[in-house]
Order: sequence, then structure tokens, then C-alpha cells
Amino acid sequence: MTEPGAETPAAMTPADEARRFVVATFNPNKAAELQALLALPGVTLVPLADWPGATPPEENGATLLENARLKARAAAALTGLPAIADDTGLEVDALGGAPGVHAARYSGPGATYASNVAKLLHELHSVPTERRSARFRTVCAVAWPDGVELSADGALEGVITEAPRGENGFGYDPVFIPAGETRTVAELTDAEKNALSHRAKAARSLGRLLAKL
Ligand code: IMP
Repeated sequence: MTEPGAETPAAMTPADEARRFVVATFNPNKAAELQALLALPGVTLVPLADWPGATPPEENGATLLENARLKARAAAALTGLPAIADDTGLEVDALGGAPGVHAARYSGPGATYASNVAKLLHELHSVPTERRSARFRTVCAVAWPDGVELSADGALEGVITEAPRGENGFGYDPVFIPAGETRTVAELTDAEKNALSHRAKAARSLGRLLAKL
């Protein structure tokens, strides 16, 4: 069987295999960000979405760490390669930390980025700017097929706007202004987002752990 990312599988040595990681996400925006953020010397990243038979696992963990781990474990079990996954939440202080780990399904079954953003702005409609503080949190996890795991986290503080602005990024980016910025994340370039984001902090921290191995 020809494996994605393996040009000549028969010629792969154990050392080559050790440097191949599956990126365990089906979200193309996240995959692109992780590919940029985890571009480590000598490491080849293989998208899970290209793997025959790969399907997204149910994200039923109670925490970001549990969800990141279960995605990484499922991908490692399927592919036999170490797998990297992330899970991200949005904590809004005026909403007691909601949507939190439930950010993807905040507006219910069939939720879209637009419906989630609309629900968030509706919930905050009477909340003044000074009480619209929030943060993105990301946990990145690596699972190896033999059960070894590593994880790292990152956060980005900011405030929720009163209306969406910008076309870049995804998810809640159009309504989130990072601390010290005037633009929403969706008004930043990809490079600017990758310099400061919650995912960037988690990925850089994970990269430091991987570099020690
Ligand atoms: P997931 O469970 O990690 O896939 O992410 C949960 C939800 O958080 C996603 O459906 C997006 O709406 C949102 N999200 C994840 N990462 C980001 C980001 O970098 N910016 C804005 N929203 C994000």
C-alpha cells in the first residue's frame, strides 16, 4: 500500500519513519497553520485527511487536553506513525468561560463558524467593551503508536468585538482582538496570526519538547 507522504515506502528506514508525523486534523485552516508552525528541521508532516480510511473521531473529552490526546491517539493507531493534534477553546469571562471546550458546537447541531459567532455576539449584546475579555486556549498533543505522549499548551488574551471584522483565519477570528492589537485576528495576515496565536504558542512549546528527543 502506498502511504501518503511516503514517496518510496519500501526504501524508508526506521530513522526516516521516526521523523514522519501525521497532522491529525480534518480542518484545512488548522492543517495549514500547523504545517507552518511545526516546520521543524528534518521533520515531514503528513496530513491525516489524505490517509485512506481516516475519519474524524468523536471529540467527547471534557477538556482540551483529552480531546487533543484522543485525536492524536486515533491517528497514531490508524497510521502507525506519531501523530500531532490540537484542540482549541474560547473562554469568554462574561459568559463564565463559555463556550470553552464546546466552541465548535456552541450554537447546536449543524453549527457553522457564522452561527457560532452570531450566538456569541447575541449572548454578549448587553456586555460593555471593558467586560468582553476572552482568551483562546490550544493544547497540542503528540501520540506515538507505542503509547508515549507529549503535550503543550498556549493561550492568547483579547476581547470580543461587537461585530465581525476581517476575512482571514477561521472560526471566531473575526470577533477576537488580541491584547495590544486594534485589528481582529481575521484582519491579521497568516504570518501575523502565526507569530502570536494560541496555536503558535502551543506548537512552539511542543517543538521545543520534540527537539529534546
Ligand atoms: P477544535 O475543537 O479545536 O476544532 O476547535 C473548536 C472551535 O474553535 C472551531 O470550530 C473553531 O470555531 C474555533 N477555533 C479553533 N481554532 C481557532 C482559531 O485559531 N481561531 C478562531 N477560532 C478557532
